[in-house]
Amino acid sequence: MNKSYKYDNCNFCGGRVSERRVQKACWWGEKLLAIVDNVPAGVCEQCGEKYYRAVILRQVENLIRNRKKLNKISVPLAEFVTR
Ligand SMILES: [Zn+2]
Repeated sequence: MNKSYKYDNCNFCGGRVSERRVQKACWWGEKLLAIVDNVPAGVCEQCGEKYYRAVILRQVENLIRNRKKLNKISVPLAEFVTR
């Protein structure tokens, strides 16, 4: 579990990508939005782009599918209006 995965350099800026735990990662499912803490991801040290491995994505999907066990929060929904 502590073994960190080697990521390729960033596709966007060529920066170094290292494994971090992402807090408040947002996932849009078909009907549901979920926010997940502590998701392991490669994060570009220059531009902050995040790279999720397929195996991690599958685990997050399983987590969200089991939604009865999840904590719920309410979030404000707003629309940006140009003045
Ligand atoms: Zn980058």
